This record gives sequence, structure tokens and C-alpha cells, in this order.
Amino acid sequence: MKAEIITIGDELLIGQVIDTNSAWLAIELNKLGIDVKYKISVGDDELEIINVLADAQKRSDIVFITGGLGPTKDDITKKTLCNFFGTKLIQHQETLNLITQIFSSRNLPMLESNINQSMIPANCLPLLNKAGTAPGMWFEKDQKIFISLPGVPFEMKTIFESEVAEKLKNKISNTFIHHQSIQTISIGESFLAKKIEDIEDKLPPHIKLAYLPSLGIVKLRLSAKGNNKENLVAEVDSYKTELIKRIGKNVFSESDDPIEKIIGDILKEKNKTICTAESCTGGYIAHRITLIPGSSSYFKGGIVSYANEVKTQELKVGKDTIEKFGAVSKECVEIMACEARKKFKTDYAIACSGVAGPDGGTTAKPVGTIWIAIASQNTISSKVFAFGNIREINIQRTALAAFDMLRGELKQLN
Ligand code: ATP
Ligand code: MG
Repeated sequence: MKAEIITIGDELLIGQVIDTNSAWLAIELNKLGIDVKYKISVGDDELEIINVLADAQKRSDIVFITGGLGPTKDDITKKTLCNFFGTKLIQHQETLNLITQIFSSRNLPMLESNINQSMIPANCLPLLNKAGTAPGMWFEKDQKIFISLPGVPFEMKTIFESEVAEKLKNKISNTFIHHQSIQTISIGESFLAKKIEDIEDKLPPHIKLAYLPSLGIVKLRLSAKGNNKENLVAEVDSYKTELIKRIGKNVFSESDDPIEKIIGDILKEKNKTICTAESCTGGYIAHRITLIPGSSSYFKGGIVSYANEVKTQELKVGKDTIEKFGAVSKECVEIMACEARKKFKTDYAIACSGVAGPDGGTTAKPVGTIWIAIASQNTISSKVFAFGNIREINIQRTALAAFDMLRGELKQLN
């Protein structure tokens, strides 16, 4: 089954709105074992939309369309679909009832444009929209399926999940698809590829390995297709185990969760707490930790000791230490971590201090020099990193490196 996603809207073509709908849909379709072969964005122009629909009909089995279903004049998708299928709009009573209900429950008057939202092409099956007023639409023509959904991401997702996914599953054959992630950190993509080359080479044709790199992290994804779900899962599992064993300590997760979630889960499970003392990251590490729901059970707080006098006043980093070794030094971060841990009464503390750039580098400590320390009850470990010249990336890399160091410490709890 080949799928295609058409996103409609002038705003997408001028860069005002980023097309997240097709990315989301592609992920969901992939889960169902449906390959997305094309993604097209087209403006609010009837002729252009019809051209795109005609192309899609030739080359794809399932065509998703998002956008342009609203009540305003610029929303022309319904009318265009009518012309494309050679049909006309008719009123759908159930949808009208639903819209009337929504407006009366909110005590709002209904405009004609709202009533028009219950008008749908005669040849479609309406898809109930529990999140808004515009229904989705399902068309079938010459063995091809067309599914039109609203542009508002939340509405699009709601209709897909409640009305489309199950129907699609029933339409497609009984091919199973199984994905397995392996997330690695602090190992480059090419180095990783070399390390697992022979395992990759012996993968059977129905199991594919993808490298999905992002800053500091390379996610490996095994994707398998087959008819026997149990066998498929077992087969993927055995390759997963082999890969994890080979890659070793750089593997931090078999899920798609970010590293701070993985660490949070361990802290929670082991009943341990953490705090931060940040200089060059300005609170970014604490922010990433607290983005994870439930982090209050292990994260107590942090100090952003950006200025040297704050390091001295709040974290007892001696003026002499700063004079002798500098604020970007092993000595400084180790004191920061130890003092933060005492201050917040936590099991662990993360501290960092570095030259984020673009200015402030010296020959001895060029931009990108970052010291990180992790303090625990009995140990203090610290490490220096040489990142690059880009401030934002240095900040992100520092957070990742700190999480990775903490992960190393937490491993010793086992
Ligand atoms: P409405 O009923 O709100 O008019 P609609 O179906 O007509 O919905 P559009 O008017 O095309 O949809 O888009 C509404 C809003 O949804 C846009 O302003 C934009 O913020 C968002 N949107 C539309 N298409 C996309 C897309 N492909 N990806 C992400 N957001 C989108
Ligand atoms: Mg609209």
C-alpha cells in the first residue's frame, strides 16, 4: 500500500506555518505498515489542488489531505473535492446536529458558515470530529482511498485516531510491522556503523536498520515486516540483543524516550534525588529535567551560578580557587557539585562551567571548553569536554554529556 500526503494551505508555502501534520501522519501510517511515498504541499488554489489530486490518484493507493475544511472563504477543499469527484455538496444531518449542539452548549449564535460545515460531498463517508466542527471525509474511488482531514493539528489527530486508524487497518492486508529502537549516546554515526557492520550485513531483507542521528545521539531503528507477528518480534529481539551487546555502554535506551526521562525513571525507581548547579547552561539542564512529567519526585532544585560572585556566595567556590584555576576548571565544578548537593540535600548533583562562546575563549581554554562534575554521597567525578564554536550547540551538548555522566554513576547502583 502506497500512501501520499497532501497538505493544503498558502500559509504552508510561505513558511508561516510549518507542516507538522504530514510528519505526524507519516509516523502513524508507518506504524500501520503503510509506506508514505510522497508528501506534497499545495496552496489554496482549486486548479493546483486538482492537479495534485490527479497525480496522487495515479501513483498512490491511499491519499491523505489536510487543511482547508474550515468555515472561512479561503477554505476550498470541500468544493474542490466535489469538482474532482464530479459530485455536489449535500447536508449531513448528524453533523449538523453535532455542530448545533456544540454552539448551544457554548451559548454561541450559529452563523450560516457554521451550518455550511455540515455540507459534505455526496460520495463521501463523514468522519466524526470530536475536537471541532469540520468533519473529516473518507472517499473511495477505483480502489483508491482519499481521506480529507482538517488542518488544525489537534483536530486532524483526533479524527485520525478515533475514526481512521481502525478503518485503515481493516483495509490493508495482514502484514505486521514491528519497530525496535536502540538509542546510543556519545558515539559518532560512522564509528557506530563500523562497529556493527557485520551484524547489519547479515540482516535478512525483511528487517531494515536505520540510523537516525541528532545532536550527540544516534538512534538505531530496526523495522521488520512479515506475516507472523510472534516470529517477527522474536527475530527482531534477537538482533536487538546482539546489537546492544556489541555497542556496549553507549546504549542508553531501547525506547524512544529522551535521556533525561531514562535517568528520571532510574532515579525514581531507586528512590534517589538530584539537583543542579549550572553556569554556562544557565538553567537548561534543570529545564530539561523538569520537562519530564513527575520529575518533582526526584529533582529538588538548582542554582544558576552564572557570575563568579554567585559561585562564591551560593556555592562556596573560594575566590582563590577561581583566581588560581579559573571558573572553568575541575576544581570549580567539583566544589559547585558538592556544595549544591549539600545545600539541596540530594543524593546526586550535576554541575557545569564552561566557555559557551562565541567570545571568552583563551588559548588554554578555547570556546567549547566545558567542565562537568557529578557529585554523589561518596564520589565526585569530573570531566572536561572540547565542544565547538556554536553557543547553542555547546549548551545542548553540555546537558547531554552531563546526563550521560550521571547515567554512568547511576549504573553503579545495580
Ligand atoms: P479551520 O476549521 O480552523 O479553518 P481547516 O481545516 O480549514 O481548519 P486550515 O484553515 O487549512 O484548516 O488550517 C487551520 C490552521 O491549522 C492553520 O492556521 C495552521 O495553524 C494549522 N495547520 C494547517 N495545516 C497544517 C499543517 N500541515 N501542519 C501544521 N499545522 C497546520
Ligand atoms: Mg481554515
